[in-house]
Amino acid sequence: MSKTNDSLMQRRHNAVARGVSQIHPIFVQRAENATVWDVEGRQYIDFAGGIAVLNTGHRHPKVIDAVKRQLEQFTHTCFQVLAYEPYVELCEKINARVPGNFDKKTLLVTTGSEAVENAVKIARAATGRAGVIAFTGGYHGRTMMTLSMTGKVVPYSAGMGLMPGGVYRAQFPCPLHGVSEDDAMASVERIFKNDAEPRDIAAIVIEPVQGEGGFYVASPAFMQRLRALCDQHGILLVADEVQTGAGRTGTFFAMEQMGVAADLTTFAKSIAGGFPVAGVCGRAEAMDAIAPGGLGGTYAGSPLACAAALAVMEVFEEENLLARSQCLGELMRERLSAIAAADKRIGDVRGLGAMVACELFGADGKPDAELTGKVVAKARDKGLILLSCGQYGNVIRILVPLTATDVEVQEGLDIVAACFAEL
Ligand code: PMP
Repeated sequence: MSKTNDSLMQRRHNAVARGVSQIHPIFVQRAENATVWDVEGRQYIDFAGGIAVLNTGHRHPKVIDAVKRQLEQFTHTCFQVLAYEPYVELCEKINARVPGNFDKKTLLVTTGSEAVENAVKIARAATGRAGVIAFTGGYHGRTMMTLSMTGKVVPYSAGMGLMPGGVYRAQFPCPLHGVSEDDAMASVERIFKNDAEPRDIAAIVIEPVQGEGGFYVASPAFMQRLRALCDQHGILLVADEVQTGAGRTGTFFAMEQMGVAADLTTFAKSIAGGFPVAGVCGRAEAMDAIAPGGLGGTYAGSPLACAAALAVMEVFEEENLLARSQCLGELMRERLSAIAAADKRIGDVRGLGAMVACELFGADGKPDAELTGKVVAKARDKGLILLSCGQYGNVIRILVPLTATDVEVQEGLDIVAACFAEL
């Protein structure tokens, strides 16, 4: 078998659909906690975490043990055919974790996109309405409905023709780019006035901190205004916590910091430390709106992934990872702010807990995606895996495992500082 990144890239080019892009021309051999080794033996600090999947690090021993134990029992039955305890236990744990002082139930699926797709199905069935309000810059997945809800068209839905209807786009509050909270609220009211009456809207779907959109944080005050609006009109508030959930923001779910509860919450990614499980948790009466057989899927709530997720929840308790998330976030924001103080191109440092980003601007004050790409590439050459995001592609985001040591995180940030100094 070919062993170099270059030759594997060539084979990949010939074998894999073009739409599956590659941010880093690296093929992984092995990974442990916050470190990745490629097929050429090069070592990297992982600040990408498989896009927010590895809050408990690569191959956490406890997660691996739990999955091994499950492998010895059974790997698949399909929960709708033959039920198993890890599925139910995970739902119970999630019900207890998701904010909201009401009876909750949970549905498990496999990916974040499916979770959001199902949240919309549930909201539609529960309200008897079809409309959905989503936000500019929002990202909700790659299924047809979630593509409709996702703000960015290129590359996600470009060239695919008509998308599912009934999605209305409000503005996400982003003072840095000239959208105040009042503007954002006014944009929702505008939808009610011009496009769809509130009685036709099933759900308002929002990421408490936008992920792919650029790590912009919605304020508690804004969430409370949305909550009040939803209550006024009988609309369900859906928090898409696929990227913010599982401790990334310093609480297990970001909505815990917003002072209001969503009716439905989606989760995925880090919930199972690298194994594919996702879901929707919400008000029991809404979750029960769909008839038996209407929800599920062959692999939905795989026993292996449920075992992993239960282990992840234990690791959070045992290693006090919520406190770690907060203190790691402070450490990273402080260091990035110091780098920004010496470099005018870094126009903003922000985030919630350990969901941290900085945004880059050119001398003309415009978003600088080119510089961002150069920083990401240079960091890779120096042994650090970074990711960018944002609708202008000018945001560098950090999703380092919460289990990384301070030394590893500082080493990664040293590389970020060196990249800015050299570019
Ligand atoms: N919602 C949010 C907020 C996300 O960040 C993502 C993935 N980046 C999704 C939904 C889709 O999740 P998946 O890729 O697992 O389908």
